[in-house]
Amino acid sequence: MKDLSLLKVVALAGGVGGARMVNGLAQLLSPVQLSIVVNTGDDFEYWGLFISPDLDTVMYTLAGISNPQTGWGLLDEGHRCLENMRLFHQPDWFGLGDRDLATHLTRTQWLREGKSLTEVTRRICSALGVQHAILPMCNEPCCTIAITRAGEMDFQTYFVKEQWQPQLMSLRWEGVSQAQLTPQVQQAFLEADLIIICPSNPFVSIDPILNLPGALEMIRAKPVLAISPIIGGKAVKGPAAKMFRELIDTEASAKSVASYYHHHIPLRGFIIDQQDQNLQNEISKMGIEVLVTNTLLSDPVTQKLIAEVVLDFACHLV
Ligand code: GDP
Ligand code: CA
Repeated sequence: MKDLSLLKVVALAGGVGGARMVNGLAQLLSPVQLSIVVNTGDDFEYWGLFISPDLDTVMYTLAGISNPQTGWGLLDEGHRCLENMRLFHQPDWFGLGDRDLATHLTRTQWLREGKSLTEVTRRICSALGVQHAILPMCNEPCCTIAITRAGEMDFQTYFVKEQWQPQLMSLRWEGVSQAQLTPQVQQAFLEADLIIICPSNPFVSIDPILNLPGALEMIRAKPVLAISPIIGGKAVKGPAAKMFRELIDTEASAKSVASYYHHHIPLRGFIIDQQDQNLQNEISKMGIEVLVTNTLLSDPVTQKLIAEVVLDFACHLV
């Protein structure tokens, strides 16, 4: 049983589900205690700008400026630039807002100057008043490519332009063999008492992190706790449930999430929603401690309450 004030945690996160969970954790753990490792497999270029959707979602959420309706993008956003881009017949399927553009313009400029994505993210976070370390998983491009019945496409084309409708056959990561966990991520893993896998999409938000050379070994060396992104057999939002069926021919359930992770990384603990209480015994039989609670991270107050339950459970596990 570890004292909460001494616990050092690394959270693995994608976009919305990850951001919602870390927004709870960040209300309870100091910047020394919590580091957040974020998927960059979604990163892409658009309008000549370098976009990092999951980093932005986590940054904006922790800065308290994300759009609460969508969970991504900014509050009080306008789209005047987008309107004029249409005049020039520029693509408009990725609806960048005017304020959001400032982030992408700055990131692109700083990357062109030769700064690493880690350094650029640190500077943007500092300007936005985010104190917790938001760490891109790697500095090199490592892009998720969706191989679908309609052909191969980069992840944002699949996810946003095609609205995740093409049937997925498999995924691959372009650049993964040249990519590496950043020194900051490695340091965070080494110092961690616990790794929390947020309720993010296992295939396109967490796997890109786990696939990086050496990541599995570093993560397996620590107690790992995961929260299910699947509630009552469905994704809270997005294609996670559809991906279970299409990629691994398995019905989506909290149990499928647990066994998917447990296959690569022995889970010390797993948190499922009250709706899935009937799965508790089956998951426990895999040798995992299971906690049943509300896991719908609807607003910052609920996010904090759920983070309290998660961390209380965590302190018993480590
Ligand atoms: P994305 O990059 O924006 O797709 O975000 P993530 O991969 O981090 O999160 C997507 C996953 O988060 C989906 O599978 C959702 O089911 C899950 N999710 C979103 N909100 C919640 C929530 O409040 N509770 C839980 N348990 N899962 C959530
Ligand atoms: Ca994402």
